[in-house]
This record gives sequence, C-alpha cells and structure tokens, in this order.
Amino acid sequence: MSSGTYTGSVALGSGGRNFTPIEVNTDADPSGYLYGRVVVFTGTLMSMTRDVARQECARVGATPEQNTTKRTHVLVVGDINPGVLRPGSNVTGKARKAFDLQDGGQPIEVMTEDDFARCIQGKPITDFANVTDLFPVPGPGTGTPPKRDRLRSVPLAERPTPTPPKPPKPPKPLRREPISTDQVCSINTCTNGAAFKTYKNPTYCYAHIDVILARGGLEPLESFTHPKDWLLTRCRRCGNVAHYRFVYVQDNNAANVETCRACFWRGWGAEQRAAIGPYGDNEPVTYERAEATAEKYGHIYLGPLTNPSMAYDPHRVECSRCGRISAERLGDISFGCSCQPRL
Ligand SMILES: [Zn+2]
Ligand SMILES: [Zn+2]
Ligand SMILES: [Zn+2]
Repeated sequence: MSSGTYTGSVALGSGGRNFTPIEVNTDADPSGYLYGRVVVFTGTLMSMTRDVARQECARVGATPEQNTTKRTHVLVVGDINPGVLRPGSNVTGKARKAFDLQDGGQPIEVMTEDDFARCIQGKPITDFANVTDLFPVPGPGTGTPPKRDRLRSVPLAERPTPTPPKPPKPPKPLRREPISTDQVCSINTCTNGAAFKTYKNPTYCYAHIDVILARGGLEPLESFTHPKDWLLTRCRRCGNVAHYRFVYVQDNNAANVETCRACFWRGWGAEQRAAIGPYGDNEPVTYERAEATAEKYGHIYLGPLTNPSMAYDPHRVECSRCGRISAERLGDISFGCSCQPRL
C-alpha cells in the first residue's frame, strides 16, 4: 500500500457489495492533505481494495463518498476499464461530473491512485504524479480528453478550508417509550385498550400482540413498545433469541413464513447442501473465521447456530453499534447492520 509500487495485479476484494462501517477519525492530523475533505473514487484501484481505501480516508480524517456531488473535494481516479465508459467518452460518469462541477466553479481536485497513496502516507504535495496519464489522448471519434490544467487545478492557497470531521451520530435506539392511546384493540370481540396508536392499520392489545407473535413462532422477552421497534424474542421452536419488528412478524404471518431467521436459514442451508451434493463447499466454517467476519462488519459474534457450521448456515450476531441481535448467514453479515451510516 505504498506509492510507486504497483504491480500488474488488481486487488480483487469482495467487490462493492460488502460494507465495512466507517468512522471518520476526528483526531486525525489537521495538516494532512486529505483532512476534512470529501473523497470519491472511480475506476479500479490497483494497490488496495476500495474498502481499504475508504478506511484509509477515514483514518486521515477524510470522508469517503460514493458519488461526485457538490460536497466532493477530491476525485481519485483508478484504472478505468474502457468497457464501463459511455460510447464516445474517455472518462467515467463520476469524472465527467467532477469536470462539470469544476466548470461551475467548484474546486474539485482530481488525483491518481499514486497521489492518493502518497497523501495517506503523509507525503508532501510537491511529489504528486502526473495526473494526465489517466486520460490519454483518445483515438478519432472517442471524445475530447480533459485539458491538463483542469485536472489538479486547485492551487494550495485556494483549497477550501477543511471542515473538521464530526463525531459519529449515535444510532437510533432499538425501542422508544410506548405512546399511550385511547384506541381499542381491533380484534372484533376484544374490548381491551390498544397498546399502540395507529390511524391506518389495525391496532392490538398486549394480549393479542402476544397471540400474533405466537403465531409467528415467537415469545416476547421484553414489553411491547411500537410495531416498528425492535423487540427481543425467543423462538418457540429452536430457542434462538433475536430482535424482530412486530410489523415484520405480521408480514411473515400473512405470507405463512416463520419469522425466526435461525430456523429459516438452517432449513435453507440444509436444502442448499442437499441440492448441491458432494460438489459444494463441504468444509465447516471455523469459529475464528465466522468471528473475524462478524467483527469486520461491525458485529459482536455470539456463535454459530448449527453444529457443524457449514457454508450457508446462520450465525448469531449483535450489532456493536445499536445492539440489535440477529441470526444471519455470513454473507448477509457483510452487508452491515441497517443502523450503520452508508458512507
Ligand atoms: Zn385484544
Ligand atoms: Zn427458531
Ligand atoms: Zn446496528
């Protein structure tokens, strides 16, 4: 991960699908070149995965974002696969947008991966590589290359003053205080007061909420607050303890699907193995590997939900940010928890 050390290999990684939670380092060195900047990547990075690049941004106090916008300060251009370009263009949509924003007066800097690597190592700006190599003069009919002076066009003195990165916002709590209501349970014969207020949908008393949860195969382990809050439950079949939203149980009930994800994915994994047979991935997943995956994607690992634990089997994890407990396959854990901000 140092500058000037490219070899021909492309960092394959796991693609853009997986998501590692990012917390921008508020204690980074304010004199760092990327400190307080919003950084966007386009093209394939050769020396590191996109995910590592995003983490490196955060480490030096920069915020990585997906798309070029009015907030963008720096566009890092990796190797551009000509197959992804629009016909007649020699730059990606993100680079095109950056040039349009430059035309509108926004001081966006375009830099090479090599420049970026120097920046995250704290090297001085005078060492920057020649960015025009990124946009070779195209053949006839393939569009006009961007002018040299448009690329790294922001003199040091004219760079906007960086905004120090803000400390991360706390996650939304899993449950709120219940809101009292004088509505009555929507079950015909029931005269109990409702547990939650709603104008569009039926509402229920606590006893009927328990009946609906039981139909979904769940026993509540805490008091009900709101249909969209996360409720800690125990599966009546397998005993797994996890959070679910009441509205999710209702949807599953309507579709005749069991809510417990431990039961669901155990069944699914077994079906996959039966269908694939001896040619599938028949190596058990080690505890260490599952734990490392969970931790990488912002979870506390609570253990496998099968024994042995095979490729498609579920695991029990707790989000280290919001505390939500769920039963998920390793592949799903790598999407991160829904509470995590997507940078
Ligand atoms: Zn009722
Ligand atoms: Zn279960
Ligand atoms: Zn979470």
